Amino acid sequence: MNTTPCRDCRQPVSLDAVTCPACGAPRPARSEWNGEGYEYKSAMTWMDSPLLHVAFGIDQAGKLRTARGIVAVGQRAVGVVACGVVATGVVAIGVISFGVLSLGVISVALGAAFGVNAVAPIAFGVTAFGYIAGGAAPIGWRPFFH
Ligand SMILES: [Zn+2]
Repeated sequence: MNTTPCRDCRQPVSLDAVTCPACGAPRPARSEWNGEGYEYKSAMTWMDSPLLHVAFGIDQAGKLRTARGIVAVGQRAVGVVACGVVATGVVAIGVISFGVLSLGVISVALGAAFGVNAVAPIAFGVTAFGYIAGGAAPIGWRPFFH
């Protein structure tokens, strides 16, 4: 097996090791590590947040990148408009989404939620929980379609 010293602790690690078994450094065989994936931040900011932040992959610490911006796009997105696997925002679109207005497979909102599983005052989904609920299995004070 080909080994090379770990970038951080100099212990031998295999060339394609994802993490160092000795110190846990991500991609220890590489001499330089700046994380993996893709990140874009717009130069324009509003209230100290980039207007657009796109972040995928993992950062230098080996952690999942989180997109934070007015418009945030990534596996974990936090923003006014957030789009991601896990999205938190005023308008949140994601597999799991939390927002005032939220759209996702699991969708939780303070205002209106649309999704397979929707939980909100106004909820539309296959399974919808809400004050006003619509969908295949609406559970609410005022079912919309039943
Ligand atoms: Zn190491």
